[in-house]
Amino acid sequence: MSLPILHTRTPRPRVPEAQLGFGQVFTDHMLLMDYTTQAGWHQARIEPYGPFALEPSTIVFHYGQAIFDGLKAFRTPADAVVLFRPQRHLRRLNASAARLCIPPLDEAFTLAALQELVRLDADWVPRTPGCSLYIRPTLIATDPALGVHPSRTYRFFVIMSPVGAYYPEGFKPVKILVEDRYVRAVSGGLGAAKTPANYAASLLAAEEAQAQGFSQVLWLDGIAHRYIEEVGSMNIFFVIDEELVTPPLEGSILDGVTRDSVLALAQSWGIRVAERRIGIDDILAAHGAGNLTEVFGTGTAAVISPVCELFYKGQTIVINDRKVGPWTQRIYDTLTAIQWGTTPDPFGWMVAV
Ligand SMILES: *Cc1c(COP(=O)(O)O)cnc(C)c1O
Repeated sequence: MSLPILHTRTPRPRVPEAQLGFGQVFTDHMLLMDYTTQAGWHQARIEPYGPFALEPSTIVFHYGQAIFDGLKAFRTPADAVVLFRPQRHLRRLNASAARLCIPPLDEAFTLAALQELVRLDADWVPRTPGCSLYIRPTLIATDPALGVHPSRTYRFFVIMSPVGAYYPEGFKPVKILVEDRYVRAVSGGLGAAKTPANYAASLLAAEEAQAQGFSQVLWLDGIAHRYIEEVGSMNIFFVIDEELVTPPLEGSILDGVTRDSVLALAQSWGIRVAERRIGIDDILAAHGAGNLTEVFGTGTAAVISPVCELFYKGQTIVINDRKVGPWTQRIYDTLTAIQWGTTPDPFGWMVAV
């Protein structure tokens, strides 16, 4: 690929890997591409990371026509840099684009351009165990006009951020509030797209939950306020009666790449898995009968996030004595070992840059 590259002359400040948080530090370069109706997607290029100017009338500021995705690059023990399931992330980016009336990207070309960017900034991929490079492809509508309509021009950009170990001191199980007032998405809405609007819809509930000592909320469906959907930026899994259960993809939740990977792993081990509707009443009943043994969230940032407590309408459900369960641990250990290249990857998930 011959992508024009404008190399930086002022390398960006580094932070010791032990002090990296999430999404605070950005690498030297970014990938850009523009769209017009006449030229389609064009002018793919790499430039120094930095601000770009947009008119105040730019449509994305007013009507939120934007999408994003999030994936990671890892450094293997052999010092190779690998991406986790980038094709699937780009396919999802295009699925989100379709829902928001955004013209699709050429996935093969975009992957090649992304690999070029990661190769250029490869030295930013952390070496400390548990750290990785988070990659944020984003696509925004850029028409400078206030009429409500799909934009005729767009900008695609990819920025990258070295991120610290999510669990520097080992797993930290989280307490989650089952949200029974606010809703995140409804069937027919934007729930299955990775779009800023869903995050805007979630902020108030998350703030109120955090003020009460919970780290996130578990969303219920927007109609019956009964069926489990997902957590803020994670899909959710339950171990009930020795079966791994997660809600189905019915249009209101995100098709998580980690979710899909967990299902594939569990199936390969011969574990019983099911994608089916689960009512919060089913969870209470399973817990009452002693059959709810593990709960965890899945997402690119944390990979696996064990849940030790669910709080619903005044009732606290303690999971597995607040300890991390064996399935949660095994899935986390295996998935992260595949990602960091310390165990073979039978699924072909890892892609070299
Ligand atoms: C990104 C995201 C997830 C997790 O998806 P992954 O592909 O596993 O990172 C789950 N739910 C929502 C709402 C998200 O935005």
